[in-house]
Amino acid sequence: MGRYLGSVCKLCRREGEKLFLKGRRCYTPKCSFERRSYPPGQHGQRSFRGKDDYRRQLRAKQKAKRIYGVLEKQFKNYYLKAVQQKGGTGENLLVLLERRLDNIVYRLGFANSRRQARQLVKHNHFLVNGKRVNIPSYLVRVGDVIQPREKSRELAVIQEALEQVQQRRIPEWLELDTDKQEGVAQALPDANQIAADIQTQLIVELYSK
Ligand code: SF4
Repeated sequence: MGRYLGSVCKLCRREGEKLFLKGRRCYTPKCSFERRSYPPGQHGQRSFRGKDDYRRQLRAKQKAKRIYGVLEKQFKNYYLKAVQQKGGTGENLLVLLERRLDNIVYRLGFANSRRQARQLVKHNHFLVNGKRVNIPSYLVRVGDVIQPREKSRELAVIQEALEQVQQRRIPEWLELDTDKQEGVAQALPDANQIAADIQTQLIVELYSK
């Protein structure tokens, strides 16, 4: 599965808000959005953003994709899966995105950003229920235990992230045992427990056209 290789700070500027894609830097004055909060590109400072429905729907989708680091095809697949599940499609979509292993590694505080979490997962640093899983899109289920491999626990990047996790809140549906460096998915989140300002209704409207 491909991934976006450009500047992630441009994505924040494109969305007109901080998406916190770069870990520690996002909380410092070095954050690009703090310095240039207008869209990137030659015409970025000209205000010609329309307010039509399509544009709002498209922006909502792009924002969700960028927050979770998912490209279009995979995102559409999540949507199609969400449609088939019971309950509200928008809520189902958000829960599917939250269940991604890279997101959960980030949410538990083993990484400072989803991007970093994705790298760590791909490089075989994490176990799920004692087995190595190197697929960032792996969908975590209730009761799954997520932890770094024994020899990865001392990695500076993981240690540093765990020290900084207090700046963010670990969601109540996840539980972290800091001493054991072990996280458990106690439940699936419901949409209002997910700290991501995403207007899923607009995404559903866009795909339903
Ligand atoms: Fe976005 Fe973080 Fe870059 Fe700021 S530092 S623009 S919040 S990714």
